[in-house]
Amino acid sequence: MEGKLYKGQDYKTEFQPRDYLKTFYAFDSGTVAENEILKFNLNNLFETFSPGGIGGDILIDVGTGPTIYQLISACEAFQEIILSDYLELELQGVDKWLKKDPGAYDWSPAIRVCEGERMRWQEKEARLRRTVTRLLTCDVNQPHPLGSAQVPAADCVLSLLALEGACQDMDTYQAAIQNLVGLLKPGGHLVTSVALRCREYMVGSRKFFGLSLEKETVEKVLKCQYSPINYSEAQCINEGHCFVVAHKGPGA
Ligand code: SAH
Repeated sequence: MEGKLYKGQDYKTEFQPRDYLKTFYAFDSGTVAENEILKFNLNNLFETFSPGGIGGDILIDVGTGPTIYQLISACEAFQEIILSDYLELELQGVDKWLKKDPGAYDWSPAIRVCEGERMRWQEKEARLRRTVTRLLTCDVNQPHPLGSAQVPAADCVLSLLALEGACQDMDTYQAAIQNLVGLLKPGGHLVTSVALRCREYMVGSRKFFGLSLEKETVEKVLKCQYSPINYSEAQCINEGHCFVVAHKGPGA
């Protein structure tokens, strides 16, 4: 993978949501590795947000990007879901899906994976569309990631595959985690998925920076489900994945 490495502000001009979806969320027409990683995340999300698991009034998804797969199980466990991304453009695709725009991305293959034999996927889509109430801009590197938006403290903050791209080094990563914890109620949960030892990933023909995180670093602070699967080498250089659930202390 040669060429310029995009990061930070470059997301505003260089990150093409359609290319991102084509690479990482092509389902059966895509590559095996990307599909396996999607299933790993879907299974963990299902476990995390099943009855008896994590739930409550408000979930804030941070770095939503153009995807909604991460909310399929969560929409049953929360009254309200708030989406947020650095870029408004990213959320336009999701907004189209929420409004059933005919040009919207088709997420039904992911919904079918979650629903298995039950085939309640249309009900699930309707529930998800009802539960998402707001789409906001955010920056995980700011002490108040949602800026001046009035948002109540959340029961859960979810952030999948966004922090590795948004944070330039370990210090900014740790600060970003604290910024996200700041959005939680005492006793709330932070749920995140990390592509380990990531160096770079492709969005169409553009190469983006990825912060290299070690399993041991992630495990130190958080409860962690590990998988050794990597993305296809042409799309992303990384080694393994962690799905992480952390708990904010009741007095924090
Ligand atoms: N959560 C999705 C999308 C991840 S793509 C998934 O699981 O596939 C990475 C996303 O992080 C992009 O949408 C990008 O706009 C967003 N991002 C980049 N820098 C950010 C920042 N500083 N704060 C919040 N989001 C950021």
